[in-house]
Amino acid sequence: MNSQKKIILVDLDHTLYEVDSGNLYPDAIDFVKFAQKQNETYLFTEGDHNFQKNKIEKTGLDKIFGKNIRIYDEFLKIENSKKEFSDKDVILIDDKPLVIDGAISLGWETIRIKRGRYKNKDSQLKPNNTVKDLQTIVSGNLLL
Ligand SMILES: [Mg+2]
Repeated sequence: MNSQKKIILVDLDHTLYEVDSGNLYPDAIDFVKFAQKQNETYLFTEGDHNFQKNKIEKTGLDKIFGKNIRIYDEFLKIENSKKEFSDKDVILIDDKPLVIDGAISLGWETIRIKRGRYKNKDSQLKPNNTVKDLQTIVSGNLLL
């Protein structure tokens, strides 16, 4: 049994946060609590810092993640997070094909969530798991 604690990096837009409605997806909070039970879990997002920060505060995710929030200004979060996470045992959860490809290239485990803007676009590399929602990760116990 692998007892090493994993690092879970979970994306915001189209993963936890439904951009069109401006709300969290209904399965977002349950998923984060599930991830936090067994793993060190980070909110892992990119984009304009204040814009992202406002969304995080408005949805209450700031209280749930505490210090474990990473906002990367440029749309290069995999590149920019290497220093902190590249040598760790990471599972990344994201909807964006480009981010999934970058994470796989680093040797990270990946779970692709297919909803929101990139729903119909595949990554070039093959993620470890592909799901349609976060509830499937919980019910399938996919963070081991
Ligand atoms: Mg996203």
